[in-house]
Amino acid sequence: DRLVASQASSEDAAVDRAIRPKSLADYAGQPVVREQMEIFIHAARQRSEALDHVLIFGPPGLGKTTLANIIAYEMGVNLRQTSGPVLERPGDLAALLTNLEPNDVLFVDEIHRLSPVVEEVLYPAMEDCKIDILIGEGPAARSIKLDLAPFTLVGATTRAGLLTSPLRDRFGITQRLEYYSVEDLAAIVSRSAHLLGLAIEPGGAFEIARRSRGTPRIANRLLRRVRDYAEVKAEGIITGEVANLAMDLFNVDTSGFDIQDRRLLLTIIEKFDGGPVGLDNLAAAIGEERGTIEDVLEPYLIQQGYLMRTPRGRVATRNTYLHFGLTPPTRDQA
Ligand code: ADP
Repeated sequence: DRLVASQASSEDAAVDRAIRPKSLADYAGQPVVREQMEIFIHAARQRSEALDHVLIFGPPGLGKTTLANIIAYEMGVNLRQTSGPVLERPGDLAALLTNLEPNDVLFVDEIHRLSPVVEEVLYPAMEDCKIDILIGEGPAARSIKLDLAPFTLVGATTRAGLLTSPLRDRFGITQRLEYYSVEDLAAIVSRSAHLLGLAIEPGGAFEIARRSRGTPRIANRLLRRVRDYAEVKAEGIITGEVANLAMDLFNVDTSGFDIQDRRLLLTIIEKFDGGPVGLDNLAAAIGEERGTIEDVLEPYLIQQGYLMRTPRGRVATRNTYLHFGLTPPTRDQA
């Protein structure tokens, strides 16, 4: 398992309860999202209405689930959680919807993975608080209409482009989460350390933050690994130096690249003259699957400007050469 993976591990989930922010005030970064949500929630509460349906976009680990929970907390209602692939049949969704209390939040993670028949149930539910379900089979089948309590659907997705437009159109509020700044991540690390009872200096929080790939989940995970190191080697105190030594040992460099990232980038530079190299060739050269490169390795490298996707293939950037202490080639502009 990669230390810098943005997906949750089972250990992440176990620690999460202690450190996940509960209120908007504790939600670090994302100033635009916070300010907007504060207003929408305040207004809905004043009217004693359910909050409008909210769609949250963003890469894994940036706080979609956290924000959904905060919405329910700030609205003073219950949150029921499910996910697109779990809802196999229309009845699964109907059961959840009919059990909601007024103004509750239904959180559907990976909402882009809802099956079309389940999605159909959602449209009238979101629009008019009604569902139409089919009971029985064949000639005996009949459709029944049910009224639902007003509710808020909070949908989360990592892949904005995969949502159907009828579904997207039914959300009144859309929020896009951005990668976090190093300062915000340092604040998150310090807060988590405090909640876990760890001794950390600002320099330690900074060293962890800048390796966290803009992602709170990774920051919290790196904190736990540095903590292990500090407890064994440094009497438990996380200074900048201790964090650096620990991260060197765990092979996470100052840009948050691990061995796989470095291998990908160095292969493009060393074996393919910096590119362009086609995805299949690259996959064969580093022994990874295409999908892993596209979905797991590349997004952060592209977002940070260390890799470009061009019509002719992947290209290393100036930054990539500089990161490895190499001289960038002077490309002819022809
Ligand atoms: P996602 O649902 O987008 O994959 P999560 O909401 O599960 O991400 O967040 C991952 C971890 O990061 C959680 O442990 C949470 O505590 C932490 N986290 C996320 N966003 C924030 C934030 N804005 N401030 C502080 N901690 C955060």
